[in-house]
Amino acid sequence: MTKPMKALRTIKLLLVVVIALFAIAASYISVLIVERQATLREVSRYNVAWLVSQATTEFARLEQRLSAFEYSRSVGPDEVQLRFDIVLNRLKLLESGDVEDFLAASPEHMQTVDALNVAIERSKPFIDDIEQPGAVSKVLALLAPLYPKLAALAAAANTYGGARVADDQQQLVRLHWLFTGLAYGLILCGVAFILLLLWHNRLLQRAHRELHTLTSDLQRTTRDLGTANQAVQDANAELHMQNYMLRARDKELRTQNERFDAALNNMSQALCMVDSDQRLIVCNERFVSLFDLDPSGVKPGTPILQLIESMPLAHRTPSNLAAVHARQEALIRQHAASSYFQELPDGRTVAISYQPMAEGGWLATYEDITERRRVEARIAHMAHHDALTDLPNRTLLRERMEQALAGARENGGSTAILCLDLDRFKGVNDTLGHPTGDALLKAVSERLRRCIGQDGVVARFGGDEFAILQVGGEQPKDARLLAERVLEIIGEPYGLDGQHVIAGTSIGIAVAPRDGTSPDQLLKNADMALYRAKSDGRGIYRFFESEMDAQVQARRFVELDLRRAVDAEEFELYYQPLIDLKSNQIVACEALLRWNHPERGLIGPGDFIPIAEEIGLILPIGEWVLRKACTEAYSWPKHVSVAINLSPVQFKSRNLVQAVILALANSGLSPQRLELEITESVLLEDNEMTLSLLHQLRNLGVSIALDDFGTGYSSLSYLRSFPLDKIKIDQSFIRDLAEHPDSLAIVQSITRLGTSLGMQTTAEGVETKEQLEQLRAAGCTHGQGYYFGRPQPARDIARLLGESRPRMTEAA
Ligand code: C2E
Ligand code: MG
Ligand code: MG
Repeated sequence: MTKPMKALRTIKLLLVVVIALFAIAASYISVLIVERQATLREVSRYNVAWLVSQATTEFARLEQRLSAFEYSRSVGPDEVQLRFDIVLNRLKLLESGDVEDFLAASPEHMQTVDALNVAIERSKPFIDDIEQPGAVSKVLALLAPLYPKLAALAAAANTYGGARVADDQQQLVRLHWLFTGLAYGLILCGVAFILLLLWHNRLLQRAHRELHTLTSDLQRTTRDLGTANQAVQDANAELHMQNYMLRARDKELRTQNERFDAALNNMSQALCMVDSDQRLIVCNERFVSLFDLDPSGVKPGTPILQLIESMPLAHRTPSNLAAVHARQEALIRQHAASSYFQELPDGRTVAISYQPMAEGGWLATYEDITERRRVEARIAHMAHHDALTDLPNRTLLRERMEQALAGARENGGSTAILCLDLDRFKGVNDTLGHPTGDALLKAVSERLRRCIGQDGVVARFGGDEFAILQVGGEQPKDARLLAERVLEIIGEPYGLDGQHVIAGTSIGIAVAPRDGTSPDQLLKNADMALYRAKSDGRGIYRFFESEMDAQVQARRFVELDLRRAVDAEEFELYYQPLIDLKSNQIVACEALLRWNHPERGLIGPGDFIPIAEEIGLILPIGEWVLRKACTEAYSWPKHVSVAINLSPVQFKSRNLVQAVILALANSGLSPQRLELEITESVLLEDNEMTLSLLHQLRNLGVSIALDDFGTGYSSLSYLRSFPLDKIKIDQSFIRDLAEHPDSLAIVQSITRLGTSLGMQTTAEGVETKEQLEQLRAAGCTHGQGYYFGRPQPARDIARLLGESRPRMTEAA
């Protein structure tokens, strides 16, 4: 409470006191007034001395009148009667209350009054009859004794009256003083009241000022409150917004929680989060199932050790969880993150990722990778092994070679690599079918595996290619011995699906460190040696020689040169006549490709066509030949056809038919004047496609000749299966006609078959008259060879053809 307020309260209290004092004083004044009135009344009425003296006086006057009446008759009876009545009246006053107190104070006085009463009573009849003689005497006699008593009584009354007056005066003085005191008191109270009012007023002014200040403060405060209120409203709106956002956040959190739970329980990994007291914070269902835990016992707050101990004793010892935890304990102590694999007591493998948390707990995920590992192992095996034979593949062999070479570098010693290629495997595959081919590969693999044992590695590179890594030993002697042994065991006959199959192999050998120190180099060199073995006749082995490398380099150079030649159009076509053996006339000319090399001169097709086939250049070259030959042949006599050789590579290309159509269309050559020569290898390819292509070509009106018949995996069944018009018997048979009677027999049978199938048969490489005669006798319909004419440039052949129907017998 403020100071003025306290003062105001005090003033209020004082005012109440003053007002109370006023009220008391007023009451007391009224009491005093009443008291004073009583006193005054008493002073006025209680004149006992006067009453008694009056009574005594009247008594004396009565006696005097009686005496006057009796003795002088100066007064009449009425006067006596009057005086008597006055005395009687005075007597009654003496008996009144006012004198009572005085009389009661003294028995003597009472007796006097009583005696008077008696005397008066007795005198009354005499007064009434005063005329009667003696009446006065009798009355005087009765009254006379009383006068002294009455005088005494008057004296006493006088004394009593004086005392009473003194008392009354004292009382009045007291009242006077009291009244005066009260009046002063009231004045003082009034003054005090006025002072208090003044004080009150001052205080009120002060309070007013303070109130004013307070009001301005209040106004300011109100303004501030307004501002504050606005701020509160803003804050409220903000709070509302925050509340809304919190609710949204809460909803989002709940959704997230639900998602988190869903994610947690749909994880393929088991997850477990533990606090610093090694108590469970959270885990997912996968964790419970992975460690065979009792779901009802897995609750947040459960110590991990309790989870471990809760595993039934009859269960494995130790439990999977115990084993995992035992290993984790070291990580917990080190507070170190780690990812590792662990084999569980039940044989499964788990991938564990352990991550300590900042506040002391840890989080770990566990993934059962048993199946994955098995699959991975399987994949790893498949990645390193050949699916058919389960032998190591090229990748694994290279790894093993790396290891062997590293070992050889450290410890000395040498290593050999043998590259194998089965001879004529394609023929087995095509003639006996792929299952038999596969069975042969498996059988070869098994023989090689048995042959090598633990001393080396046998690998299959795919197709009919194998390789053997021979580690250590005395090189190249041991490699040679191994190659000979391999040739021997592979060459032994196979019994596959009830069929008797003969296979052979060619082997190329490279020895480290002589022929190379890296797997790639050794393999490349062994491959070159294999190439040499194959070109040297197959069924043999060859060691790598440095000149092989030079040949390969030369070949690479040819490749580059050939590409350039295609762009520079350095090719030319020579034409060799084909003779009808009945009419001895040129019926066709075969286009034979030549490369006019700016430095090396004219190069025959045997030196570049295989390379062009390998590097795909045969396609543009082949199309060029088609266009060129058709164009040049167009100007020849109409009965002369042109024969064009097709590569098997061209045959595989999709636009062969298109290229033929274009060549015919562009040149204007009739399709009937075009013969396409294919080799047997074309027929070995995808039969359906080949057949379809051949039909498409023949439908154009073009005829098809089977070139070099008898050199490949010739099968007479081909002749029936494919739409062929002509068979060209390979010149190797013609060359051998003289020495080998078999050749003639073969030529005869081919000719017979061709005739029976309605095909023409052309003998290639006819060089002598004898050969011609034999072939004619054997039934060949056509001939080609130096005997009739060598391949010649286009203008020469055109000139030759321009001569009227040149007969080749003459030419020869
Ligand atoms: P081919 O189709 O069998 O051609 C016959 C080959 O025998 C020609 O060799 C020819 O010069 C040769 N020749 C002909 N008569 C005799 C003879 O009496 N004695 C001997 N020793 N040889 C004779 P060329 O021209 O070197 O052609 C070799 C092979 O190159 C051809 O064999 C053919 O398969 C291929 N060829 C030639 N030109 C082309 C072509 O334009 N395209 C394709 N894909 N291959 C071609
Ligand atoms: Mg030919
Ligand atoms: Mg030929």
